[in-house]
Amino acid sequence: MNDTPIKPAIGIDLGTTFSVIAHVNDVGRPETIPNAEGDLLTPSVILFDEDEVIVGREAAKAKATELEKIADCPKRQIGNQVYDKVFGDRRYPPEALQGWILNKLKRDAARVAGDFDEAVITVPAYFDEVRRKSTQDSGFIGGLKVLDIINEPTAAAVAYGYQAGWIDLSGKVAEPINVLVYDLGGGTFDVTVMEVGVNRFRTIATDGDMRLGGQDWDQRLIDHVAKNFKDNYGIDPTEDSTALGKLLRDCKDAKETLSSRSKASVECVFGSSSIKTDISRDMFEDMTLDLLDRTDFTVRQTLKAAKLAWTDIDKVILVGGSTRMPAVREMLTSLSGQQPDTTLSPDEAVAHGAALRAAMLSNRHSNAFAPSEIKNVNSHTLGVVANEVETGIAKVVPLIPRNTPLPVVARRVFKTHRKNQESILVQIVEGENNTPEDCSQLGRCAIWDLPDTLEVGTLIEVRFAYEENGRLKIKVKVGGSTQKAFRYEIQRPNSLTDEQLDSWREYICDSNE
Ligand code: ADP
Ligand code: MG
Repeated sequence: MNDTPIKPAIGIDLGTTFSVIAHVNDVGRPETIPNAEGDLLTPSVILFDEDEVIVGREAAKAKATELEKIADCPKRQIGNQVYDKVFGDRRYPPEALQGWILNKLKRDAARVAGDFDEAVITVPAYFDEVRRKSTQDSGFIGGLKVLDIINEPTAAAVAYGYQAGWIDLSGKVAEPINVLVYDLGGGTFDVTVMEVGVNRFRTIATDGDMRLGGQDWDQRLIDHVAKNFKDNYGIDPTEDSTALGKLLRDCKDAKETLSSRSKASVECVFGSSSIKTDISRDMFEDMTLDLLDRTDFTVRQTLKAAKLAWTDIDKVILVGGSTRMPAVREMLTSLSGQQPDTTLSPDEAVAHGAALRAAMLSNRHSNAFAPSEIKNVNSHTLGVVANEVETGIAKVVPLIPRNTPLPVVARRVFKTHRKNQESILVQIVEGENNTPEDCSQLGRCAIWDLPDTLEVGTLIEVRFAYEENGRLKIKVKVGGSTQKAFRYEIQRPNSLTDEQLDSWREYICDSNE
């Protein structure tokens, strides 16, 4: 026996609207850890109040009255250089805002799980390279050592698989099954088709919409209630931040009520006037039908990309609080011809899967967890920009098409254009379009010190190694007599430097000690 204390296996679902932290308990079951307020879900909201920074429930409550002091849904802006709102006279990178959230989760969870710094964090399958790296940086800033970044649907499938016994811990091989994970949260939508076998999770196809979630359903209700007010009083309550804050909260409540009741009402107060608007579930479903249709479309597309038919799908799993809306369940039942599996809480499944993954990685409960293999695919095509020989026009040359199983290594050979060319610029892009402007720029690496005797047409080999966690490494080899090789970490224009990361980490973690 060794005496080193077992490290807790921690998983974090860093959600757009709510975050959840879970651990694997002493008997090997994943369990959500309540925060200091006693809640299982922590709103991903930050309040900057003078010198105080408050994360979670109290910050979310302040949205109704102090909207200007609130940083809401930093995850929606991850990948940008700074969050789009100024607090006092300060601007914050989204990584720092997420760092605050993670640090609160960490501190609160330590009271139950004991001190820890290692954790698995989840991201939407649709997140690109930039956002994955930013999420990892957020973890560092929040005082964590990020063991792995895994996709939310993969985590959900792990949790369902574990609890339903698809993962046969005794090692008996069951038939692999195909699972479709439909995740509609507060701010993002994801659909993923995976193959789940014993100790094996393989993503076949994934797609989603970074800008679609429960908030859009809320917004439809807000528009409806505000219009009713305006029709009656001629003034728009959404122009006032206090009235809008209250509307945001009440419309979200009404939407959630409509998941279990057939009607709800919202009282809108602005100035000295007020009006009550009644909404039935049918009305609500009518005014949000196009949003649901967008998810329907993506589900079909993803199934097509996976080259599967509904009869090949053994399980439909629902993840994300918004899947509590009956319309979502009805749509999926009629699409798939089967009842979606709702045995796990849609808010907690992702964090539970992440905790199980952490347990697998840290070899805790090693008798209970056979080594498990998680296979991901890349969610966007990765390529480089090259000039067409005939026209000189810049075009995207794809290296790794979307939905390629990871890890993958891809090579492509280019030629130099000019004699004695001194430098080469390799521009890395991500996206489904062949015009560079329509793709997102991941970064560029420039090689300045080429040997000065290069012939026209010297071969340049670009090699992409895309790892399972979605991280990308690049190697450029210059052929001819030189055989020089250059290794690159992509330089992302928006990402924080090591010094910035250290100073944010110190700032956020120390102030909370
Ligand atoms: P995220 O992963 O984006 O943080 P969650 O999975 O926690 O989001 O889902 C949050 C969303 O779920 C919110 O928009 C919330 O209003 C919605 N939600 C929660 N419960 C219900 C319900 N009963 N009916 C409809 N929507 C709900
Ligand atoms: Mg979520």
